[in-house]
Amino acid sequence: MVGVKKAVVLSSGGIDSTTAMAMARAEGYEIYSLSFNYGQRHAVELAAAERVAKALGVKEHLIIDLDLRKIGGSALTDTIAVPKGRSAEEIKQGIPVTYVPARNTIFLSYALAWAEQLMAGAIFIGVTAIDFSGYPDCRPEYIRAFEQMANLALKAAVEGRLRIRIHTPLITMTKGEIIRKGLELGVDYRLTHSCYDLSADGKACGQCDACLLRKKGFHEAGLADPTVYVS
Ligand SMILES: [Zn+2]
Repeated sequence: MVGVKKAVVLSSGGIDSTTAMAMARAEGYEIYSLSFNYGQRHAVELAAAERVAKALGVKEHLIIDLDLRKIGGSALTDTIAVPKGRSAEEIKQGIPVTYVPARNTIFLSYALAWAEQLMAGAIFIGVTAIDFSGYPDCRPEYIRAFEQMANLALKAAVEGRLRIRIHTPLITMTKGEIIRKGLELGVDYRLTHSCYDLSADGKACGQCDACLLRKKGFHEAGLADPTVYVS
């Protein structure tokens, strides 16, 4: 099929998904960014996703309302405290309470539906298996299995008109490498948002896993972090 290459890109407004989006754009894809209003504590991430979508010139930015608080089971969607002050080693061990049950499976399923509607063969997700919180739905074996399922699930795939590929350009990159790559591609990280537990006046907590990984990334990249932290 000739014409534009389309990609659905999952966007949380954070460093990783923003970098993945910039990489998709650099590969010549027309971008359709997809975000979720899922009842997360950090609803400001949707504002960040909106800013990123504008800055990167996406063709369309879609926000799906999906209240995962009705299911709960996570510090992001339930009344469970967000862990603070964990070391990089602690962050890597086990699966923390910020894990949201089946989140990436739910998000990728929406991406898949939109991809079929758009006839977009590419779905980009900014997962990394290096500097991450041990979430099982960020691992390469999970992504490959989802891709296989995707090509069995869609009418357009079964009819041979569409082949879905799940792109994970960050999967083997450290946070520092991700930030350097983004800067190379002109990403303005001031637009992005990472914190799981913002203060009432909108400052990042500086102590949750997301803040700590973000700080580590800027440090590794040898750059100043533009985020305003409480601590
Ligand atoms: Zn934080």
